[in-house]
Amino acid sequence: MSYIELDRDKCEGHGTCEQIAPAVYHLDDEGELDVLAGSLPESLTKAAEAGARVCPVAALRVVGDQ
Ligand code: SF4
Repeated sequence: MSYIELDRDKCEGHGTCEQIAPAVYHLDDEGELDVLAGSLPESLTKAAEAGARVCPVAALRVVGDQ
């Protein structure tokens, strides 16, 4: 199982991750990023990785066995 690690100190609220993977990442009304908590369903792992790859400040990591 994989899960998402978000470095909130790095995140600048660009929203690129949400554009790529809206099922996993969501910016709230205050510009704070919500990510799916806990273990990722296998069906969303690739989307989570794709969103993490496009983050311009490398604030996201998908960790765990794939
Ligand atoms: S793309 Fe990166 S900086 Fe932008 S909201 Fe997502 S995690 Fe934050």
